[in-house]
Amino acid sequence: MILKQRKESSELLLQRVLSWRLKSFSAKDHRRLFKMEKGFAGEQAFDNWAVQLPKDWLQIQDLWLQKDDSPFQIDSLVISPTFLFLFEVKNYEGDYEYKDQRFYSLNSSEVKNPLNQLERNESLLRQWFQLHNIKHPQITSFIIFINPNFYLFLPRPKSPTFVFPNQLNRFLEKLTQQTGSINQSHKNIASQLLSSQLSESPFFKQPTFKEREYKNGLYCKYCFSFNLSPLGRMTKCRNCFKTEKLHQSISRSIEDYQTLFPNSFITTNKIYDWCNIPTINKRSIGRILTTNYKRIGQTKGAYYI
Ligand SMILES: [Zn+2]
Repeated sequence: MILKQRKESSELLLQRVLSWRLKSFSAKDHRRLFKMEKGFAGEQAFDNWAVQLPKDWLQIQDLWLQKDDSPFQIDSLVISPTFLFLFEVKNYEGDYEYKDQRFYSLNSSEVKNPLNQLERNESLLRQWFQLHNIKHPQITSFIIFINPNFYLFLPRPKSPTFVFPNQLNRFLEKLTQQTGSINQSHKNIASQLLSSQLSESPFFKQPTFKEREYKNGLYCKYCFSFNLSPLGRMTKCRNCFKTEKLHQSISRSIEDYQTLFPNSFITTNKIYDWCNIPTINKRSIGRILTTNYKRIGQTKGAYYI
């Protein structure tokens, strides 16, 4: 049973919008976004695998907790009759080597050792349970390497904590070899975890860029070019020649505005300037806003939520 479903983090949603809106979005920023997208895709792939776990087991995807001043994030937590499983998912691709407790990617240098992160999470979770006086099944943690194009050169003996893509079927068999069933005490643990979770990463910060640092206007949803020409109720991209309904294109720009300026009221004037389409008047923008949002106030100071 999935008690909490994974969704894109606010940080990922923001970085996506910044990638096409921010004039100074650098190659380094693109690499960072790519890494985030890859991590998220890996976690989703793991979620797809985890649907095979017994239906009554309790799954919590992407859990943020805090113990004293230390926030920690668990990619996936599963409560089974006998164990509480922690899964740390890595979407690494290519060849890596694990040597002397360190991780190296074969074409570059040392990377963060995911075991350290896992051990920290496990320790903080144990302390968190202790602090709240919660009895729990034995905690068992795994690092799941989900990408089929990942290979790790390992010294013997192999760490039982690592699970590789070609082991996932056997791993599932091993995990589910337990008797007993989920009872009320398991459900209580899950509900205490969920009621204590942070709503999102405490490290997330709203952007502080000024409006002039962003590209305004409409953009193509296929190639992200801002080089569009309005054609009646449609827009046509001059770069990839694809078309889109104008009101859909405007709606996406309004969503971008909300992501970038979450504390700013949406008004017809602001969106008119933000969309910057010479062939469209303010009344049409107002109509789109009225259709999709709730209008507060009737006068010139009206805004939308
Ligand atoms: Zn295009």
